[in-house]
Amino acid sequence: MMTKKEKIEEIVEEVPEEEVEEIDLGLPEDTEVDDSEAVVVNENDLATIVSEKDDSEEVKLPPEAIVPTEVKIAMQGGWVPKTALGKKVVEGKITSIDEIFEKGLKIGESQIVDILLPNLQNEIILVGGTTGKGGGIKRTATRRTTRMHKSGRRFTASALVVVGNGNGYVGAGMAAGPAGKQREAINKALNQAKLNLIPVRRGCGSWECNCSAHHSIPVKTIGRCGSVHIELIPAPKGIGLCVNDESKKIMKLAGIKDIWCKSRGQTATRYNTIKAIIDAFTKLNRFRIREDYEKATGCKMGRVE
Ligand SMILES: [Zn+2]
Repeated sequence: MMTKKEKIEEIVEEVPEEEVEEIDLGLPEDTEVDDSEAVVVNENDLATIVSEKDDSEEVKLPPEAIVPTEVKIAMQGGWVPKTALGKKVVEGKITSIDEIFEKGLKIGESQIVDILLPNLQNEIILVGGTTGKGGGIKRTATRRTTRMHKSGRRFTASALVVVGNGNGYVGAGMAAGPAGKQREAINKALNQAKLNLIPVRRGCGSWECNCSAHHSIPVKTIGRCGSVHIELIPAPKGIGLCVNDESKKIMKLAGIKDIWCKSRGQTATRYNTIKAIIDAFTKLNRFRIREDYEKATGCKMGRVE
């Protein structure tokens, strides 16, 4: 009996003691030592690895590229083109935005416009409004709309942005975002405006002026959106922009200095007014103008040097 008990005790004692010893010794020593050493070593290693990788990437890229300046501009913004047109622009096969419009290609990435038209300006059209204390409307950059949900009201903020280089190119874009993030909506609208860029046909179609410079438009056009009809009429030099204040922004960005306009409908809806003007410009681009008249008015699409 004694032998059996002793044996059992020995076995029982031996097994837990070893296990406990292993666990006790293993965990604290490993964790304490490893933590202190590992953190320091890892940081250094990571830093060296990251720096080595960056150096190698930077060294590898320039020899592969064909045009170094274009690639540098693209790489500075951290942009990697996804569309075929974007890749051509980065490689330097397309160097002018007129080429894109002539071929009728679709601009799928706003960075294409940033590279080809570096001096692009933008204006926010004040589409929104809040009613003030003493009546009237205080105009705001974003329009807040409400929709009903089963859990209550949901708000959306939308913005309208116009871009142009002041010399024959213009675009407008609208986008919506959550009501708390107006900046997000404005940035999205700016991006959209760049994608919607169109050339503007300019000339002097006024019989009072007859100068064949590019300060007005060559012929009368009508654009519409919703209830708004806008008729743009060529004006002689010195008249200025005879349009409302929000429409002046788009005229300035397009590079038009003198113009008359007749409008009909709810022009206080600024979104529709701007869209009607863009519609008028796109219709102007589609007109086929007689050659002698084209020469007399100095009609030209897009940039004028
Ligand atoms: Zn003129």
